[in-house]
Amino acid sequence: MMFEDKETKTEISSIGEFKLIDKITESFKITNTSTIKGIGDDCAVLSYPNKKILISTDMLIEGTHFDMSYTPLRHLGYKAAVVNFSDVYAMNGKPKQIVVSIAISSRYSIEAIQEIYNGMALACKNYGVDLVGGDTTSSLSGLCISVTVIGEANLNQIAYRSGARFNDLICVSGNLGASYMGLLVLEREKKTWAANPNFQPDLTGYEYVIQRFLKPEARFDIIDILRAKDIVPTSMIDISDGLASELHHICKESNKGCNIYEDKIPIDPQTMLTADEFKISPVTAAMNGGEDYELLFTIKQDDYEKLKEIPQISFIGHITDNPSALYLITKDSKAIQIKAQGWDSFRDNQ
Ligand code: ADP
Ligand code: MG
Repeated sequence: MMFEDKETKTEISSIGEFKLIDKITESFKITNTSTIKGIGDDCAVLSYPNKKILISTDMLIEGTHFDMSYTPLRHLGYKAAVVNFSDVYAMNGKPKQIVVSIAISSRYSIEAIQEIYNGMALACKNYGVDLVGGDTTSSLSGLCISVTVIGEANLNQIAYRSGARFNDLICVSGNLGASYMGLLVLEREKKTWAANPNFQPDLTGYEYVIQRFLKPEARFDIIDILRAKDIVPTSMIDISDGLASELHHICKESNKGCNIYEDKIPIDPQTMLTADEFKISPVTAAMNGGEDYELLFTIKQDDYEKLKEIPQISFIGHITDNPSALYLITKDSKAIQIKAQGWDSFRDNQ
């Protein structure tokens, strides 16, 4: 571990699977009325009499999706849960339950697994989600965490990727590119640490970008704002692979194109400074970085008035009619075709 880790370590084999499950799940409380029965039987029992049910799942593999040398376990648990919540918000729904399956290698202690679950418990508490089940098994090599989320929405509230229409405004929450810069900083520190294990990284000045990478948040506030303003986005997606890739998804599914404007893309000052240091353009970080977990959505022009004063929302462009034309309009008014260079775990792009 790049970060000091001096806690006691108890081997899982000393208590066995059932005691481990009890230990890691005991602090979770059921809070949602849609949860009839949580952990403790062969199945959880849920009740959604008047809603549509949204389901999504994500798997995280050590070495592929996270690097144990700089990922605090508590953050890993938090992030594994939050990225799933983000998928439900991206449908304009609300997450209510998760089930979590975990495969653990003998390298991991009880305390380590508890740290992961402490992070998950915090995420569940912060977002009002119940942990209602899962599975625990052993793995020969690394750690693997699979989270399935169940959420709800009314049928007329659900926002698909496919609903963008000509002239709709393209909106994005928060700011982009920070998480990718956080990752670059951590990778740089890891290299120094690998050469000298006594080295303790000094991450002063990079706190925000690193937090965006290690402990992202999902934008429930945007969903609440949209509901309060009585707006259903015409399309929506969460930004996990970079703005370019997500614009491609929306345009492809909606059979439309887009123009977005470089000077409208929201970028945090710390992202700017860090990008400068790494000699990459902050716009590239926003377009092709990833793991921002902001929401990208489109609204009808008529809804602009209702959202224009909301500080968490930026208007970055509009939808056009030509499906093969996705353009970034630069500050000096050049139109550059947007290529989808997002993260694709089957491509050799690291
Ligand atoms: P089964 O043999 O029916 O698969 P388990 O012993 O695996 O049952 O699980 C017992 C209970 O604990 C079930 O409610 C299950 O959903 C829950 N559970 C098991 N592992 C986990 C986990 N890693 N996280 C959360 N709940 C879990
Ligand atoms: Mg089981």
